[in-house]
Amino acid sequence: MTEFRTNKGLIDRYRSRLPLASDASVVSLYEGSTPLIPLENIQSLTGKKVEIYAKFEGLNPTGSFKDRGMTVAVSQSVTEGAKALICASTGNTSASAAAYASRAGIKCFVLIPEGKIALGKLAQAMIKGSVVIQILGNFDDGMRLVKEVGENTAVSIVNSINPYRIHGQKTIAFEIIDALGRAPDYHCLPVGNAGNITAHWLGYCEYAGREVFQDTFQSQQGDYNRDKVVDTTPVMCGYQASGAAPFLRGHPVENPETVATAIRIGNPQSWDFALTASKESNGWFDEFSDDEILATQKLLAEKEGIFCEPASAISVTGALKDINSGKIPEGSVIVCTLTGHGLKDPDTAIKQSKAPVIKIEPEFDQVKKAIVDNLE
Ligand SMILES: *Cc1c(COP(=O)(O)O)cnc(C)c1O
Repeated sequence: MTEFRTNKGLIDRYRSRLPLASDASVVSLYEGSTPLIPLENIQSLTGKKVEIYAKFEGLNPTGSFKDRGMTVAVSQSVTEGAKALICASTGNTSASAAAYASRAGIKCFVLIPEGKIALGKLAQAMIKGSVVIQILGNFDDGMRLVKEVGENTAVSIVNSINPYRIHGQKTIAFEIIDALGRAPDYHCLPVGNAGNITAHWLGYCEYAGREVFQDTFQSQQGDYNRDKVVDTTPVMCGYQASGAAPFLRGHPVENPETVATAIRIGNPQSWDFALTASKESNGWFDEFSDDEILATQKLLAEKEGIFCEPASAISVTGALKDINSGKIPEGSVIVCTLTGHGLKDPDTAIKQSKAPVIKIEPEFDQVKKAIVDNLE
């Protein structure tokens, strides 16, 4: 086949920095290479001199950052001979696992919380032929069951407790630094199961030549290139929905509840790693209400033309609060991860949209009236 010159998958672009064997099978959908978009209109609204960028992960092949982790995890699983994958999911992990399983020609089982998954995500898993198992419980129940399955069968777990997921997802930090020519001062992101904040921190530390998570990620998966590229790492700002904010409470939350279903998690599996990332980067956690999250989703759509899912918008909710309060000082370069695409969950978007939908007869006068009435 033709040799592409650009935009290969992230394993091809960052292979030396990933702990994959040289003869590993590569299962890729040409993920990564997502745009880093300056949010200039939103920056103007703050009245502060800062640079705010959105890393729009909604533009990955299945519409979320999970693809970065999945390409590496599934490649490793297939190399080890796995015939089937399993994951618990709030939606996006299942959409991504389903896609990479199809690509690899293996089976995929997904456990999702019944009734609490955005329809676009369910559609993705179903059309790709995964076995969808709805549980009468939440994500945390699904995670517990998946771990039991992993202990008792040969099915390969592709949740972020699989370290290859974290290695894949760390490449977001590489791409950001490669694009900016430096590390940002602050990195803002949603925190659910906490694999992603762990992955961001691992990537930033590796590009800064800084040792981190030695016992887990930098030793157990064998050797790979960790040469220093930049001198600094960002402060990590992790944001949670108030109804699902175990890091703010200081302990797991029993019945997590939020409109941002991707972060509706009460018992994060990467708890210790996330605390390490927060402490070592001098970062913090904060929480926001569903109303605040939805308002930011709308703001991003109206002011920047970017449609992300509710969980993603919380990055910008948090960044704006911390910029306005001065906690993130003027002069800072800030990156917000927009973790998933808004099209995953159109119901929530339509419900909160106040834009008029006008019904007319197919006549010029009526179109004209609709235009004139709404020009202001
Ligand atoms: C998975 C996911 C998150 C949360 O990431 P964690 O690694 O679980 O903290 C946030 N937003 C979206 C869109 C996701 O799919």
